[in-house]
Amino acid sequence: MKGIKDKFPNLPERISGLRELAYNLWWSWHPEGRAIFKLLNRQGWYLSNHNPVKMINLTDKKTLDAASRDPHFLRHYDAVLARFESYMDISRGWFCANVSEPKLHTIAYFSAEYGLHHALPFYAGGLGFLAGDFLKEGSDLGVPMVGVGFMYPQGYLRQMISPNGWQEGACEILDRENAPIRRMTDSDGNPISIKVPVMDPPVYLEVWQVKVGMTNLYLIDTSSEANDPWNRCISDRLYTGDLEQRLRQEIVLGIGGVRILQALGVEYSVLHLNEGHPAFAVLERVREKVNGGMSYSDAFDEVRNTTVFTTHTPVPAGHDVFSFQLMDKYFGSYLPGLELPRDEFFRLGVNPSKPDGFNMTAFAMRSSAYRNAVSKKHWEVTREMWQQLWPDLTPKDVPIDYITNGVHVPSWIDRRLGDEIFNRYLGRNWLEDHDQPSIWELIDEIPDNVLWAHHNIMKGMLITKIRARAREKWLNTGTDPRLIIASGVLLDPSALTLGFARRFASYKRPTLLLQDMARLRSILNDPWKPVQIIFAGKAHQDDQQSKQLLQKVFGAAKDQSFGGRIAFVEDYDELLAQYLVHGVDVWVNNPRPPMEASGTSGMKATLNGVPQLSILDGWWIEGYNGKNGWAFQGAPEGPNRDDMDAAAIYDLLEKEIVPLFYDVDELGIPHRWVSVMKEAIKMTGPNFSARRMVKEYTDRFYRKAIEACIKAEYRTEKRGAKVDLFRRI
Ligand SMILES: *Cc1c(COP(=O)(O)O)cnc(C)c1O
Repeated sequence: MKGIKDKFPNLPERISGLRELAYNLWWSWHPEGRAIFKLLNRQGWYLSNHNPVKMINLTDKKTLDAASRDPHFLRHYDAVLARFESYMDISRGWFCANVSEPKLHTIAYFSAEYGLHHALPFYAGGLGFLAGDFLKEGSDLGVPMVGVGFMYPQGYLRQMISPNGWQEGACEILDRENAPIRRMTDSDGNPISIKVPVMDPPVYLEVWQVKVGMTNLYLIDTSSEANDPWNRCISDRLYTGDLEQRLRQEIVLGIGGVRILQALGVEYSVLHLNEGHPAFAVLERVREKVNGGMSYSDAFDEVRNTTVFTTHTPVPAGHDVFSFQLMDKYFGSYLPGLELPRDEFFRLGVNPSKPDGFNMTAFAMRSSAYRNAVSKKHWEVTREMWQQLWPDLTPKDVPIDYITNGVHVPSWIDRRLGDEIFNRYLGRNWLEDHDQPSIWELIDEIPDNVLWAHHNIMKGMLITKIRARAREKWLNTGTDPRLIIASGVLLDPSALTLGFARRFASYKRPTLLLQDMARLRSILNDPWKPVQIIFAGKAHQDDQQSKQLLQKVFGAAKDQSFGGRIAFVEDYDELLAQYLVHGVDVWVNNPRPPMEASGTSGMKATLNGVPQLSILDGWWIEGYNGKNGWAFQGAPEGPNRDDMDAAAIYDLLEKEIVPLFYDVDELGIPHRWVSVMKEAIKMTGPNFSARRMVKEYTDRFYRKAIEACIKAEYRTEKRGAKVDLFRRI
């Protein structure tokens, strides 16, 4: 690929390795990687919002030249580069030692969104962070992967709240020159352009690459001038409400994505569909094989036996269904190339209990041999929901597995907690071996005052950050001071602090804590044992109902009778999430069961010693053990459900959580509280890490899919057909 050499023309040869380093997100989860950029230009690092590409673009030639002659800088530079190079050697990984020769069998991972870093806003919420953490951990384990997704040039909503509490969306156009992404070009340096069949007028895709450690992630961009205007905005934004545009997005992601891998010469054995959005990839893979001379049914079997499908949606309404009429419009001319009759294709996508269109999840279920839900509870719900696809089986026997989600530990652990405390008490190898349960038993060795002092530093940093943002708002807009108070200026570093931050969606019930304002007021305003709540989160631009919930939360934050003990912090993103999951005292989660398939933000908090208070849904059913946080059952469906659930939270706060937090010794240390913190860390490290998760996917699915691929290859060789169908690097 051409192009990288043209970046950073002022960078001296001696430190030219910074080029590759800046464009590889490896730095985002390796403290030494971040440190080298900070050492180069600390102010630039801050001003670029921790984005090394932007920072180097901002750094003048004199500073760069000086660094290239500074022995202190060069010592660090050489050490970091050596670490990076040894990391990039795939043969050192777990996969190579335990599964197979990584060069032979790549996993192609398709997802509509990726949450990797705040400099790359290609996500809406949990699904994206799961995909991002998956790629990072895959790279850490040496699992040979390639990712495919969308670049959403206008998909990033900067949230601003108007004085009356209404979310005003301002779409931020991604500054491509300053983002850690590179356009894929041909040998002449022209952007590659790939035509998607199926669409008329045709759609041309350009491709951007993100390096996630060893893994390449290819992002599809439809904004090319070659496209007509309607097609140009296909990849504009995530999850458009317009069904036809959504179908077009999914065609581009699935079929276009496979075309891109083909055009780039990327060979892979296994296809992993993260949620149903990219499922059309199956069709294009089948078409490639049919084109190579195979019958449709053989091709379909082979693709199916090498496809993994992960479903994340616990309610029927959450799955995409496209009318047959719309499907005919787009697939009419495509199907003959697969030797697949229309009716047979449509049958693959029919949900027998609601056969009114083409259901992407039904299609993905039927075209994959390995299917999974993302928590134990979600597994039960999913088997019930899709039992009709296997009418002869009882829900218990429905062939869907589960692999509970996990979070990427190096990305979500606070660096100080890891470097200064875990290194000392868990041993220097704790991070490398973090899915070993025995390591985490050593958490008990950490003296209470050490962990407590650390937590208070994190809490202080969170509150400082929130106040800095509020100050900026005050300086820039200078409106009603109540709006600034609502942003958190009166937060108190010594008060028990609850955090509620996630996408605003009605099933997550962001206003449940406000259900009984009088009771809440008495809890928050207790002069001896005050409690405060920090809220953050964005509503989808088209979701008026969620914007109303947000308005209600903002109204409470402005309400003088709460004394500034409720804050709404604008513009929730990955960076703010880091501060929050490290710095609040309790992470609150109260969705309407069984709507939370898994939830992952709570895992990020508990990993850092922030216990969770949550309804028993999603991962918390597996995570809660009576010692590591607080749980309540959730009332049955009915008109009083929200009242009862809110009362359960108030009860826990009044009777258990508040008294425990304020039960301190003469030095101010709440020993019993710290023991809950320790239990939270102990439970999360081994059980809810992305490492445990990716190993499970590999052992239970990828291994078998790779074996199926090898068998297929053997059969084909015997038949004398073209071996290159079974793609090898
Ligand atoms: C982890 C994370 C999420 C997902 O949180 P849930 O618990 O699944 O709601 C959403 N947004 C950001 C910024 C995150 O870091």
